[in-house]
Amino acid sequence: MVKQTAGRNSLGEFAPKFAELNDDVLFGEVWSREDKLSLKMRSIITITSLISKGIVDSSLKYHLSTAKQNGVTKTEMAEILTHIAFYAGWPNAWAAFNLAKEIYADECNEESHGGFFGQGKPNTAFAQYFTGNSYLNPLTDASKTVFIANVTFEPGCRNNWHIHHASKGGGQLLICVDGEGWYQEEGKPAQGLKPGDVVTIPAGVKHWHGAKSKCWFSHLAVECPGENTSNKWLEPVTDEVYNNLDKN
Ligand code: MN
Repeated sequence: MVKQTAGRNSLGEFAPKFAELNDDVLFGEVWSREDKLSLKMRSIITITSLISKGIVDSSLKYHLSTAKQNGVTKTEMAEILTHIAFYAGWPNAWAAFNLAKEIYADECNEESHGGFFGQGKPNTAFAQYFTGNSYLNPLTDASKTVFIANVTFEPGCRNNWHIHHASKGGGQLLICVDGEGWYQEEGKPAQGLKPGDVVTIPAGVKHWHGAKSKCWFSHLAVECPGENTSNKWLEPVTDEVYNNLDKN
């Protein structure tokens, strides 16, 4: 059931019947018939109609945003607007693209998997310490030098809370290379990560790292040299903790 109050909010006093028809009939009854046609499809039809009529005001912005919520991806939106351009007119599509770009600005690149250093193979050896699928591309030989690997997390994937132990030195460096992710130390707020960000994780600090919920994410993991180094894997990052991050 789609709950809409835009009509009453904007026109409830000036045109109560119009507000009622907008909120209760158009949204409450027509949009809500999801069993007959999906919300995603209804969104696509609606933006197509608005753009065809040259309506590129706040109502198109609202419907582009709703389309995103209803599962229209960035790639699909670009394709839809390109398609519409030939039927509805080039300038209309231009205007719509400018709004769509704003609305999808926070979306990650969906084609991005691993980035410059490559995605590597499924990280099966450590899968038990991860929620979701991760990939590992070792870049150096640990028997010859400092071990560096490119770790890629699918959207929503993160490793368990863990501690890099060492009696001297040690710890881990994360060098972010692709997509968007999170790093969190126990008792501190999570920190958003983008390519170019570097995180220094001292030995002995409980933490986790992983992708954002809608983005792939890759970081190089550097094992800092130290004495008596070991990894202590702990409990998973719960959905309750993880799902709250997006809201902050
Ligand atoms: Mn770590």
